[in-house]
Amino acid sequence: MDCEDVRTYLLDDHRGQLAPELAREVRAHVERCAACAHDDAAEHALSELLERRLPQHPAPLALKRRLAAQWPAPGAARAPWWPRWRRAVAPALAAALVLAVAAPWLTGRLPASGRGDGAQALVAEAVNDHLRVLLSEHPLEVESGGIHQVKPWFAGRLDFAPVVPFGGDVEFPLKGGAVGWFVDRKAAVLVYQRRLHPISLFVFRADGLPWPARGGERIGGVDAYRQTARGFTVVLWRTGDLGYALVSDLDPKELATFASKLVG
Ligand SMILES: [Zn+2]
Repeated sequence: MDCEDVRTYLLDDHRGQLAPELAREVRAHVERCAACAHDDAAEHALSELLERRLPQHPAPLALKRRLAAQWPAPGAARAPWWPRWRRAVAPALAAALVLAVAAPWLTGRLPASGRGDGAQALVAEAVNDHLRVLLSEHPLEVESGGIHQVKPWFAGRLDFAPVVPFGGDVEFPLKGGAVGWFVDRKAAVLVYQRRLHPISLFVFRADGLPWPARGGERIGGVDAYRQTARGFTVVLWRTGDLGYALVSDLDPKELATFASKLVG
């Protein structure tokens, strides 16, 4: 087993998902390889940040773990671009995460500013959820062969039908989807990409959330609310019973272009 093998197994090892013999091989390598021991420690630190330091709801994490337990074993099909990309950006993301943890507005402790703290809470949730997607070893539960493969996959996994009017194109390809959480409810998570920038779209039931009443802009045919925070742009809008949160570190204008495609 070489270093590359070991690194693809580390997170699964932390989750207790490896067969005992494989786990022993991984542990044996980590004990005698300083580079892999360093990566192992970094994985632990990231998990620690994600699970303990970020404001988070116990139920979603428990569910995330159950979902994680069902993820395909290592070696099963996965997006080859993702682990490489994740490894490249993980240090920067970890730094962003620390900033996010330290930023009082992100934890909702600041009193209402001009735009209302309800909107701030939704923006914070969207950024946190996007960071979780970015830092996840297996962000996609279904790989995209196109929206016609991804949409039916959600049937039976959500208690609503996510309406996604845009299935990606050459500029903004759809990479795949997963079931996640937004605040206290299940969400369809769709991951698109623009060059090297992943874009997360969360679709969820809109009722009962503190939607901003004003301060919005017109994107496509809907009133949207856009805010840039910590290097990420968040666009929020509602259509009928559904709420949408779009998050990326993409240029805000490009993200607005993408949002207008999504709105239709
Ligand atoms: Zn090694």
